[in-house]
Amino acid sequence: MTMRQAHVMVVTPHPDDAEFGVAGTVAHWAREGKEIIYVVCSNGDKGTSDTSMKPEELARIREQEQLAAAKLLGVREVIFLRHPDQGLEDTPEFRKQIVRLMRMYRPEIVVTADPYRRYIWHRDHRITGQVVLDAVFPYARDHLSYPDLMEEGLHPHKVREVLLWASEDSNYHSDVTDTFDLKLAALRCHKSQVSDHPFPDLEKWLRQRHETMAEGEDFELAEGFHRVEIWW
Ligand SMILES: [Zn+2]
Repeated sequence: MTMRQAHVMVVTPHPDDAEFGVAGTVAHWAREGKEIIYVVCSNGDKGTSDTSMKPEELARIREQEQLAAAKLLGVREVIFLRHPDQGLEDTPEFRKQIVRLMRMYRPEIVVTADPYRRYIWHRDHRITGQVVLDAVFPYARDHLSYPDLMEEGLHPHKVREVLLWASEDSNYHSDVTDTFDLKLAALRCHKSQVSDHPFPDLEKWLRQRHETMAEGEDFELAEGFHRVEIWW
């Protein structure tokens, strides 16, 4: 199978989560010439407080917002899986879908939501994070996991590094001082999500958040992750 490989695969539960979680780092990678793809798992059709908004219209709007944000950041390709919002489940089918994409694009780095955030955490984020970690290891790696994928030419793949955003246990801070403005602009592409409510001053909120994440570092603004390096 011929497929243009990517250095980085970002797997996001909803359109906009990747921008909140990793957009500053994504912009850095793009500047370095790294090829990045987004996989958007759900269609985001429940993410509104507007009671007149139709779910199908919201899903359409959010795809356009996601494409605009990705373009701004230098993401090469966005894949929409279009599962129902608030409907992601840890199923063999979803896991295989992610494994298939990992084996197709063969990323060195995979980025997603930390599934181990405690208490109040969006179920779609928890499920996505868990399914992605399981896909990385062992399912993408082992040739006997999916004999049918092998027959399609989708051979095992070893991801080298996983970054989990929104972690309560962050151990890696990425310098986003130079790409903060781009991240802010990418977030503003998600107009349906970052209106005055709940973000009356998005820039101030975001800057404070990234200043806090950079505490103890020798740079001003950071995105924080739990980073897992995989050696086997
Ligand atoms: Zn989300």
